[in-house]
Amino acid sequence: MPENYVAMFPTPGEAECRAKVERAGPRVSALAEQIRTGAVLEEVPVTLKDRLQSGPVNPLFYALYVRDKGFTVSEECVSCEKCTRRCPLNNIEYADGRPVWKGNCTHCMAYIAGCPTEAIEYKSNSRGRHRHYIGTDE
Ligand code: SF4
Repeated sequence: MPENYVAMFPTPGEAECRAKVERAGPRVSALAEQIRTGAVLEEVPVTLKDRLQSGPVNPLFYALYVRDKGFTVSEECVSCEKCTRRCPLNNIEYADGRPVWKGNCTHCMAYIAGCPTEAIEYKSNSRGRHRHYIGTDE
């Protein structure tokens, strides 16, 4: 998966994003088929780093960083409401022609990546970072 966490990390350009998604296609299809047929998925080894990231680091990160107060929307917004529809937690309302965040965000970055005019920013962190959206909800 291409890095999409524009709230914190540099992101790859469009060509690299497309290449990564294309490379992952066969593996994703194979896994989908395994799930569809109820096959047992192969176990992936869990490292100490994995345990630390999913254990102590994750709750701390959520408590200190994952919130929606840093999102802003610029005059580039064309009031298409795609961000409202793309939020998996139904956390974005639409009021007076603009998105409004309701305080229940998991930082998935779906709406910021899928905004057709790049009108959404997360503080200054996301500025100038490439956004790649894979969804098919046009
Ligand atoms: S997706 Fe972007 S342009 Fe569309 S309503 Fe949301 S902020 Fe505005």
